[in-house]
Parts: sequence; C-alpha cells; structure tokens
Amino acid sequence: MKPRHRKCRCCGQWFSPQPHNAYHQRYCAAVFCRQASKRASQRKWRRKNPGHFADKDHRLRVKRWRENHPGLEEDARQMPSEGKRY
Ligand SMILES: [Zn+2]
Repeated sequence: MKPRHRKCRCCGQWFSPQPHNAYHQRYCAAVFCRQASKRASQRKWRRKNPGHFADKDHRLRVKRWRENHPGLEEDARQMPSEGKRY
C-alpha cells in the first residue's frame, strides 16, 4: 500500500506527492524545499561521480581549450552530447 502523504525532508510538512514522480519525491512543492531537493540530488550525483567538477586539471584543460579555440565553444554546444570525441 502506498502512503498518500509524505513528510517533506526539508520543512517537515506533510504533502501529497505528484502521481507521476511520487516514487522519488521526498520534498514538498515549496520553492525552498525544491531547491533543497535539487541541491541534495546534485550532492548525490557528485558523490557518485567523484572529482567530476572538482578536478582542477580538467578545468584547466577546458580553460586552455577555450583559449586555443575561440568561438568553437558555441559549435561544440550544438553537437549532440557525448559526441565530443574527435
Ligand atoms: Zn517542504
């Protein structure tokens, strides 16, 4: 049996999860709680992908690449993601 109401992890208020995302909704619809939810999922993602953004070498490489390829960044953005292997 599915509970109809959930307690928000952020503010502790009871709320009714949306049917289409009830399986993962842990926060109510308040703006602050949605932001908290986003932050939490980003933290989770970063835990799963350690060093993805914290990698200084990577950032430096990107910076150098941008300096060496002025104007190409826009083109790269048009390309389908994951299609950046040359
Ligand atoms: Zn809340």
